[in-house]
Amino acid sequence: MWNKALESIESKLNQQVFDAWFRPISVENFDGNTMILNVPNKFFKEWISDHYLDLIQEALYLESGTPIEVKLVIAENTEPVPFDDAALQASISPLPKSVNVGPKPKLNPKYTFESFVVGSSNQLPHAASVAVTEVIGTKYNPLFVYGGVGLGKTHLIHAIGNEIMRKHPGVRICYISSEQFMNEFVWSLRNDKSLKDNKMDAFRKRFREEIDVLLMDDIQFIAGKDRTQDEFFHTFNSLYDKNKQIVLAADKYPHEIPDLEERLCSRFQWGLIADIQPPEFETRLAIVDKKAEEEGIPLSRDVATFLASAIKSNVRELEGALINLAAHASLEGRRIDLDFAQETLNKVISLQQSALTVENVQETVCKAFSISLDQLKGSVRKRSIVLPRQVAMYLCRKGLNTSLPEIGERFGGRDHTTALAACRKIENMIRKDINVRSRVEALERLLGF
Ligand code: ADP
Ligand code: MG
Repeated sequence: MWNKALESIESKLNQQVFDAWFRPISVENFDGNTMILNVPNKFFKEWISDHYLDLIQEALYLESGTPIEVKLVIAENTEPVPFDDAALQASISPLPKSVNVGPKPKLNPKYTFESFVVGSSNQLPHAASVAVTEVIGTKYNPLFVYGGVGLGKTHLIHAIGNEIMRKHPGVRICYISSEQFMNEFVWSLRNDKSLKDNKMDAFRKRFREEIDVLLMDDIQFIAGKDRTQDEFFHTFNSLYDKNKQIVLAADKYPHEIPDLEERLCSRFQWGLIADIQPPEFETRLAIVDKKAEEEGIPLSRDVATFLASAIKSNVRELEGALINLAAHASLEGRRIDLDFAQETLNKVISLQQSALTVENVQETVCKAFSISLDQLKGSVRKRSIVLPRQVAMYLCRKGLNTSLPEIGERFGGRDHTTALAACRKIENMIRKDINVRSRVEALERLLGF
């Protein structure tokens, strides 16, 4: 049964991750209800229960048809000892425990301002977040934080919650993802008149009257969900009118979220909009150092530098690479030196290096249209230059998911509205003009989109 479960787990994970975390596990005992699994050390035990326990339980459930409890034990005879230093072991932080305040906030106590590394890529959203904890509800309202995956949006809004809890203990905080908001809304609608109490009234009272700070994550999720958007619109108004603080996180700029109602979109711009960019090298290095310290992973300067220069796309992957490295090292009983880091992370890194950049797109487009990079980024408005410029912006948006402000910036310091207009223009032309379409498609193939 365990082997079957493993197969299904393997199919869901990236091979390297599977090999690192699941190969070393063995079954110690199974009595029909509880499965005891052997893991090599404490580090493994924590990592697996933190990240993969649900996955394991689900796989076992699907295999057996009944819920099976899973217990992880540290195998006694496993050598070598994970880290030489017992004190280091003890310093590995325990699983984050959720804390409860207000209606249903689940704040991760590890996501604080102290544990958030500030650099030029995230300075503005960080400063705005701190400001919100000082003057609740009046300074930046709403605060809208947006940026790509794994860049720290969730971390920041939890930090706001944690900080407000610390500074202003009586304040009622609600942290919720917009998906959860929708689920609860739908549940309340369905069960509204069942039993004695009125579920919709309770839902509305909870979100409109019993909250001082609303932290809503991944707001893009409600786009296109008409009734939820409508409900949220009223929630927003009600809180806003009472000067309650609203903080929203999204993966895109409001105008770029498809199917987001215009009235919500405009409200999201009443306060401050701050974007998180991918961190530059120095910030990545500081993040690696901080995470290593937090997790008790001994890391030399050259390994930290190697990680920070190799993993560029996002902080979550950077963190993942570090943890992966530590897991391999503890398993194989090796010191984390540069050779070991390079060996272990080879696969991850070759993937990263092949990642395209805005520069690649710009160069490719310049060649294809026989214009220079200066022309591409410059201000000449001739059609022969404007078209390639707009095509390049469109390709960055579509293929690299570069944010509009960044596109504007990288194309000669233009405004994000110019970038947006360019993308719309090309989308339109692709629909109407076969020549443009085939040129754009050829470029996409060339770039491997
Ligand atoms: P998002 O919500 O933007 O997808 P998260 O907030 O979940 O990203 O961040 C992913 C991981 O990266 C988290 O573990 C978070 O702690 C970490 N992280 C992101 N940015 C930073 C930062 N500036 N300093 C420290 N850790 C960070
Ligand atoms: Mg998030």
